[in-house]
Amino acid sequence: MSEHIAGVIGFPVAHSLSPRLYEFWLRELGVSGAYIPLAVARRDFSAVIEGQRRAGFAGVSVTLPHKQAAYAFAHSADEIARKTGAANLLIFLPNGTIHARNTDVDGLCASLVEEIGTERIQGGSAMVLGAGGAARAAVLALDRLGVRRIRILNRDSARATTLATDLGSIVRAELTALPWSEWKAVAPLTILLVNATSGGMAGSEPLDLLPEALPASAAVYDLVYNPLETELVRRARQRGLKSANGVGMLMHQAVPAFEALFGVKPHVSPALRAHLEAALQT
Ligand code: NAP
Repeated sequence: MSEHIAGVIGFPVAHSLSPRLYEFWLRELGVSGAYIPLAVARRDFSAVIEGQRRAGFAGVSVTLPHKQAAYAFAHSADEIARKTGAANLLIFLPNGTIHARNTDVDGLCASLVEEIGTERIQGGSAMVLGAGGAARAAVLALDRLGVRRIRILNRDSARATTLATDLGSIVRAELTALPWSEWKAVAPLTILLVNATSGGMAGSEPLDLLPEALPASAAVYDLVYNPLETELVRRARQRGLKSANGVGMLMHQAVPAFEALFGVKPHVSPALRAHLEAALQT
């Protein structure tokens, strides 16, 4: 058996681009290994993880709906997993324990730097839509990039308040939770809008707000990448706003994960992006 076996678990998992991404790097880097997608229902999560660990997997990527369960199940965790309460990577250590990591913050930071640029957002006011694990990662990423004020809006505003309370004491940025209905009032004060909800994702309801109220100098980052162009991004581009979809974050969050699982550091490239986007265009 190869020592390099890993996988991704989620439910559903058939839509996941991770196998395509990891197979690209395995081939490009000549690494002998396998990366296996497994559809795992919530009730089977711990049994499957334990089975993978015993079967000699190096670790496993974790996607919806298991990110919180993965964090809770692990014996140790990195700082970002602790701050977000969610893990997107479990590493099976040689001593039999499981280490949780969250590479989403690194991934989003790298993608924002590359696709939006930091000058625009440093010292500015951003808005994060959502209150799940992705929104927590977005708040930490924006804080790391020097955003001064972050307004958090979620349909269920109590969840936005919880997020702001949980992260408020560990970030430098000023966090404010606002009801969803405040969108129109605060959009003109926003230099970067980050959609960290699943609104607009294939199979989900669309977002009921559009970027018309943002200033002309604002940028829009949508964590959703399926479809490649959400209605939010389409309208932002139509208005001439700088915008990006979540493919950049997806690629960059996988760099440290691939290195931890397969022992070789891969690189994000235009060829990889084209390979992933081709799968979403069909
Ligand atoms: P989650 O924990 O399930 O949270 C979903 C969030 O979306 C909640 O805040 C929910 O609001 C909100 N929501 C769902 N449908 C909505 C709609 N139609 N309008 C407004 N809000 C809506 O999910 P998550 O893990 O945080 O992930 C959120 C999104 O980020 C997903 O689309 C995921 O694919 C994406 N993501 C992308 C990457 C990447 O690499 N590009 C990485 C991580 C996540 P309520 O609380 O009110 O229900």
